[in-house]
Formats: sequence, C-alpha cells, structure tokens
Amino acid sequence: MLENGSEEYRVTVLPGDGIGPEVVEVGVRILEEVARRFSVPLCLERDEIGWAAVKRYGVPLADETLERVKKSHAVLLGAVGGAEAESKDFAIRPEAGLLALRKGMRLYANLRPVCVLAPLLDASPLKPEIVRDTDLLVVRELIGGIYFGEPRGRERTEQGEERAVNTMVYTTSQIERVVRMAFSLARERKKRVVSVDKANVLDVSLLWRDVVIRVHREFPDVELTHQYVDNCAMQLIRAPQQFDVIVTGNLFGDILSDEAAVLAGSIGMLPSVSVGDGGVLCEPVHGSAPDIAGRDRGNPLATILSVALMFRYAFGLQEAGALIEAAVLSALEQGFRTADISADGACCVGTQAMGDCVLDQIGRIRPGAG
Ligand code: NAD
Repeated sequence: MLENGSEEYRVTVLPGDGIGPEVVEVGVRILEEVARRFSVPLCLERDEIGWAAVKRYGVPLADETLERVKKSHAVLLGAVGGAEAESKDFAIRPEAGLLALRKGMRLYANLRPVCVLAPLLDASPLKPEIVRDTDLLVVRELIGGIYFGEPRGRERTEQGEERAVNTMVYTTSQIERVVRMAFSLARERKKRVVSVDKANVLDVSLLWRDVVIRVHREFPDVELTHQYVDNCAMQLIRAPQQFDVIVTGNLFGDILSDEAAVLAGSIGMLPSVSVGDGGVLCEPVHGSAPDIAGRDRGNPLATILSVALMFRYAFGLQEAGALIEAAVLSALEQGFRTADISADGACCVGTQAMGDCVLDQIGRIRPGAG
C-alpha cells in the first residue's frame, strides 16, 4: 500500500502533438521496464492534450482529463503545438492546454537540470572547455508572472490603431514558495543560488529581489547572488560552470532554460519536472518540433530523463532514477546518437532505436550500480 492508501502509482500519459507521441512511446517503455525491475506497481492511463485534445474534445485540455490528472501520482507529457493550430484563438491553442494543466495541478516550480554529459562535449556549438562539467538547475516559477497576469488582451484604440497588453504580476507568497524550494534544492547540491530578475527596470523584480533576500535568511548556509536577466543570458554561455541553482520567474526561466539547452548539445537532451501542491508533471523541455514530427527523428533522451525525474520526485526512488540516467550515459558512451546530437551522422539512430539502446543498457546495469 502506498502513502496515500493507493495500491499502485497512477500515471497519466499525455503524448500531445508533433514528436510528442513518438518520444512518449519510448518514455513509457522505459517507465514500464524500470518499474518492473524495481517492483513498482503502476497503472497507466492515456489521454490527450494540446491539438490532439482539440481534435478529440474540442478544447486543448478537457475537464475530464484534468480530473484524471488530479487523481494521478504523476503525469508524463510529450509536447503540444503545431502549425495547424497557429492561426487559432488563444483559448483553443494547444499551449493554453499546457498552461491550464500546470495551473490545474498547482505546479508552481519547474525544475530543469542542465548537465553536460562527457560524450556530448562536442555536440554543443560552444567550445568544450566552456561547457565541460556544467551541472546546473534552473528553478522556474510556473504559474504566475506574465503568462497568467491580468489584464491581458488586444483591442482597437479610439485612434484606430491596435493595442495589446500583458501583465507581469507576482505576489509575495508566489515568490516565497518557489524561492524556498530553490534554496532547499541548493542545500542538496553545491549550496549556491543565483536569483535572476530585472530589478533595474521592473517593479515586479524589485519585489522579487526583496522576497528572495528575506527567504534567504532561512538558509544562511546557502550562498545567494543576484543577476539581471540580460547578464545571466550572457553568463550562461560565457561561463556556465559558475552556476549551481538559478531561480527566476516564468518568462525569464522559459527563455534562459532554452538557452541552456545549447550547453547540453540539443534541446532534445533536457528533461524537466514540475512540482507544487498537487501531483508531479514530467515533460521534456522541448516543443512539438513540427519540422521533424512523424519521421522517427526526435531525440527521446529528454523524455527518458524526465522519466528518471518521475522516479526521483513522484515515487521517491532515487536508485531507479539513477539507473535510467546511467543507462542514457552508457548509450551515449557506446556512440549512439540521434541526428540532433550527431556531429557527422556516425552511429545515427532514430527515436525508437535510441529507446532500444537505452533499454539494452538498463538490462546490463545492475540495480544500485547506477
Ligand atoms: P521546438 O522545441 O518544438 O523546436 C525547436 C527546434 O528544436 C526545432 O528545430 C526542432 O526540430 C528541434 N527539436 C526540438 N525537440 C527536439 C528533439 N527531441 N529532438 C531533436 N530535435 C528537437 O520549439 P518551437 O519550434 O519554437 O515550437 C514548436 C511548437 O512547439 C510551437 O507550437 C510551440 O508553441 C510548441 N512548444 C511547446 C512546448 C511544450 O509543449 N512544452 C515547449 C516549447 C514549444
């Protein structure tokens, strides 16, 4: 019997759009195999999000899907979005489904680890000596800030021109909870936090900085520094080893973590896990990659590494997470590459074959050896 009285871990699988279903198929195979090896009782349920949900339910996140998700211990999501949805109203845009899911699950912190794996040193366009040994964690506030602030919208002015507005808004409690999480996570790492804001220009950032300084008093053993977002964008590709934990708001975190993907060689390498008051959402950082969808070309490693984060954060099984991470490293050490991380096309495999390689490595590693 699990902590909440349930007999098994309920996982909702939301493949989404574009390459989402392809990479999630691989992720599920890894999830089932590692759960079997660690005798984790699993109950998987599939549903739709994004454009796939619009086609099935008429909305990008159906109420029944959100209800199912709320009863789950974890969600594995692929990606949403695509060309057919671009011209549509925001309310039925696939991205609206993702925002509603995060809000509905009350996931206020998105954790995005960026590790440069030794076999991929050459996959980054940056010099190996710059990216070597990078191991940082971006903690992004996920359900506040400019993506959710009101008022928002577009209107025609009396002068006949168009006007559009979004609002960046944060409250003290929204900042406190995510910052507290960042300091707690830093305690388990190198005990350094960089808080990123734009306090030289934005009132919201002034509040952000005040709250960060106040919460820091609870964590005197953790070193705190502040960076403006424009400087941080530069520092990330100039000297990424300086970072341990970066904590920032929704918009800045979205942009900085995509930039950090360059360090890891490809956005197809970056996993994420979102946590808060509800369940746990595991999803790769990348989008639906419409340019390569349906061609077995997407890198599934970000999704596989997101499954590792599910074992760590949703099931509390660090050893299972470590096994998956070790298997990914081992597949890369064997030389297997998807197109996005293959410099010369050598040993280039497709999405499903890369999944097979990782499964094969999982079979070779003894549990506990990860
Ligand atoms: P994207 O991440 O989908 O793609 C950016 C580039 O990276 C493309 O060249 C793509 O081919 C490549 N890429 C992405 N994932 C890859 C993988 N796993 N393996 C190999 N290459 C990969 O970003 P975009 O092009 O800006 O957005 C496409 C759509 O995805 C849009 O509709 C956008 O709104 C949506 N999107 C969704 C999410 C999400 O679901 N979390 C995140 C970002 C973008």
